[in-house]
Amino acid sequence: MNRFTYERPGSPAEAARAAAARSGAKFIAGGTNLLDLMKLGIETPAHLIDVNRIGLDAIEPMPDGGLRIGALVRNADLAADARVRRDYAVLSRALLAGASGQLRNKATTAGNLLQRTRCPYFYETAMPCNKRTPGSGCAALEGLSRSNAVLGASDACIAVHPSDMAVAMRALDATVETVAPNGATRAIPIADFHRLPGEEPARETNLLSGELITAVTLPSPVRGMHVYRKVRDRASYAFATVSLAAVLVRDGDRVRAARFAFGGLAHRPWRVEAAERETARGAAAVSDTIVAGARTTTHNAFKLPLARRLVAAAMADATRG
Ligand code: SF4
Repeated sequence: MNRFTYERPGSPAEAARAAAARSGAKFIAGGTNLLDLMKLGIETPAHLIDVNRIGLDAIEPMPDGGLRIGALVRNADLAADARVRRDYAVLSRALLAGASGQLRNKATTAGNLLQRTRCPYFYETAMPCNKRTPGSGCAALEGLSRSNAVLGASDACIAVHPSDMAVAMRALDATVETVAPNGATRAIPIADFHRLPGEEPARETNLLSGELITAVTLPSPVRGMHVYRKVRDRASYAFATVSLAAVLVRDGDRVRAARFAFGGLAHRPWRVEAAERETARGAAAVSDTIVAGARTTTHNAFKLPLARRLVAAAMADATRG
């Protein structure tokens, strides 16, 4: 591991200012992803800003009926919160489908959004990877791509975002709140938070340099049946091959309205609102719109029928429920 300096600021504004003051600085909270990457030499921060003592660890009701989740709320606490379990069950279920109990106790809301891809070549430092070393190439394009993206990818990178939590937040239309080094605050809709890889796969979010996530807000509860289905290689402690966060509203024996957000398909949680407008026409019509424009490899083409089956299963669940 490279040598680095370390500081522990006392407030979010102080932390953001500290990030702007030092080149090569990174925030650290739970460290469940960053420390692994540092040990492998993939992340080499010159300076760590430990944000564990700046507050931001509360879940608070909002005047509009929503919830404000502090950036440092641990994944386990968020999943167990009675309001989240009652009103945002898809989020609680997605969190509990991720990682292990120990990791959820440590990992934070902001850190979960910022976790990096698990593309195997990103971790294999002897192989070319545009995300790790811009301009070096993409080993996955001609290599083993079973876990990689089928939607929204580019010739520079076909990695997927690994989060379960972010997929549920995308279905719920969450908003990410931030503070910049100059003290300015922003509210970024989660649809605009993560980027597609394009020509710059190393840039995974639209955060600016030194900008710190302070909270994620959820709008007032979305009524309907909340579903999180995750297909993975083993029953626990595995990233999604394909996952689906859905909220479905039933009308008799039909699903009248629904939201569908996917993990495992793209470089960011994948939601196509136009597909949701096809809900009344059935699962096939919804899926056709979701997977339009897909580009697959021989290794990952199976993800498309898998995504279709997840939509069909969620809609069948809703009409049975
Ligand atoms: Fe790197 Fe992306 Fe290619 Fe994986 S898919 S090797 S992360 S550039």
